[in-house]
Amino acid sequence: MTGGGGAPDWLGDGYGHVWMPYTQMQTSPLPQAAVATSGTRIRLADGRELVDGVASWWAACHGYNHPHIVDAIKTQADRMPHVMLAGLANEPAFILAKRLSMLTDHALPRVFFSESGSVAVEVALKIAAQYWHNQGQGQRSKFISFRGGYHGDTFATMSLCDPADGFHAAFQGVAPAQFLADLPVDGAAEEGLSQLLAQNGHRTAAMVVEPLVQGAGGMLFHDPGVLQRLRRLADTHDVLLIFDEIFSGLGRLGTMLACDQAAVRPDILTLSKTLTGGTLPLAATLASEKVFDAFQSDKLEHCLMHGPTFTGNALACAAANASLDLFMHEPRLHQVQALEDRLVPSLAPCRDIPGVQDVRGKGAIGVIQLDIGSFEELTWLRGRFVDAGSWIRPFGNIVYLTPAYGIDDGDLATLTGAILHVLPEWSDKFGKAA
Ligand code: PMP
Repeated sequence: MTGGGGAPDWLGDGYGHVWMPYTQMQTSPLPQAAVATSGTRIRLADGRELVDGVASWWAACHGYNHPHIVDAIKTQADRMPHVMLAGLANEPAFILAKRLSMLTDHALPRVFFSESGSVAVEVALKIAAQYWHNQGQGQRSKFISFRGGYHGDTFATMSLCDPADGFHAAFQGVAPAQFLADLPVDGAAEEGLSQLLAQNGHRTAAMVVEPLVQGAGGMLFHDPGVLQRLRRLADTHDVLLIFDEIFSGLGRLGTMLACDQAAVRPDILTLSKTLTGGTLPLAATLASEKVFDAFQSDKLEHCLMHGPTFTGNALACAAANASLDLFMHEPRLHQVQALEDRLVPSLAPCRDIPGVQDVRGKGAIGVIQLDIGSFEELTWLRGRFVDAGSWIRPFGNIVYLTPAYGIDDGDLATLTGAILHVLPEWSDKFGKAA
């Protein structure tokens, strides 16, 4: 059923009840009514089709409705959508755990499943804290995170985010205080972090970082040397190292894990987003045998004290196994490489638009940083991108593309064309200086 102007009835009715994410509902326009997806396209209720530039918050890496994943979900749904994991095993979860371990060459052979990225990071933090607690070092309750970082929206993960990102300003003072450091991008920053660790290592459980790209903090890239320095410092000061690969992992940067590019392994690693190819909520926290060993004991209270209802959900794990198949059976990583070769060059002309501060990218990520002054500008840009047939959601001071890895040339041209068309208009309308 559609109401006036082609909008379906459920849209207006439901908008009075659904609390939308990160949305000022008093002033935001109604969301677009999506009714179907296919490949890199989203079909709207009014018949328009948008080329998706963000893969639904960076998750739909194979494009939408990939038949191999859809079939796996259907088959599993018929057989057994879910059974609790405590005391009961299910094949998709057990197979997936081994396959994820293999991604780390079994350096991180123990896998804990949850349903969202934030919870996977929460679990990583709990594992790190309990690792020390089980060894009589319960005073190691603090974490070190990095400027520009983002790790989730739950309380402990909020405490790791850079407060300057503005996502969680309302909760300062509620979320626990941690140490915020500069990424060790050079010798001076490494020395600063080393001093922080020398003073506070004895009360620090772990350092937490997004390898090679800080996503929600503004798509900020750093080189693999940072991860090597972090590994060195973690070893020297005997703190655990957590890599949050929720955005960077599973191909987005051209390798199955971003940390592969540094030849460094953390003690704990988190995955989500692309894990099911963007189809079902699933996250994983992987740990090394050293970490796992600290939970082995004849005391029940030494076991990992975590167990979400849907941990190891068979349906989601079947989707994840199918998604991993696609990395083997289709040339995904080559596609990311090919995309990297095209993405930044095709966005490069934006550099000449007044108000554009930077154009950068890596792997299947392209970023244009803007001199953006107001939320009104963001809202305007979002609307204009839809008018141009693209689904592009700028945030903070960036317009970015994180499309499906195998997006074809035509759809990519629609996305980059929309950006090249809309940004000059934005620049004129909002009076940006050269
Ligand atoms: N860590 C990183 C690096 C992320 O990019 C995100 C989500 N943007 C999260 C954690 C949180 O994941 P979720 O939104 O699934 O809770």
